[in-house]
Amino acid sequence: MAIMKKYDFKKVMEWLGYILKCPICGYKYNMDQTQVIDSEQDDVFGEAKILIHSDCNKCKSSVMFNIEIRGPEVFSVGMVTDLTGKDSSKFKNRNPISANEIIDLHKGLKKFKGDFVKALTITKNKQ
Ligand SMILES: [Zn+2]
Repeated sequence: MAIMKKYDFKKVMEWLGYILKCPICGYKYNMDQTQVIDSEQDDVFGEAKILIHSDCNKCKSSVMFNIEIRGPEVFSVGMVTDLTGKDSSKFKNRNPISANEIIDLHKGLKKFKGDFVKALTITKNKQ
């Protein structure tokens, strides 16, 4: 039987600091520029999932990494994002856009006859 242990995220992050590189330019990440957005772990199966966001110091691109640890195996998927670390924290608790919201937007746009830039600017100012 496999030994199940809790993951020490601090250790995991240290370790990730050694292996994570910018997929755009290959620059090794400074862990100061990396933050954990979300993490969960399953003690029963010895699995852990970590979502992290990194800003490259060299090429300034932002990448989100979805790291999955299953026992001795580690899977990581990186995707380039235009969200900053701050944005990622902000949006992670938001609900996804619903179909109704899209339909409303579509209806709104169908009726809309005017200056797009102006309309969007007004919307922004109302908030
Ligand atoms: Zn880079």
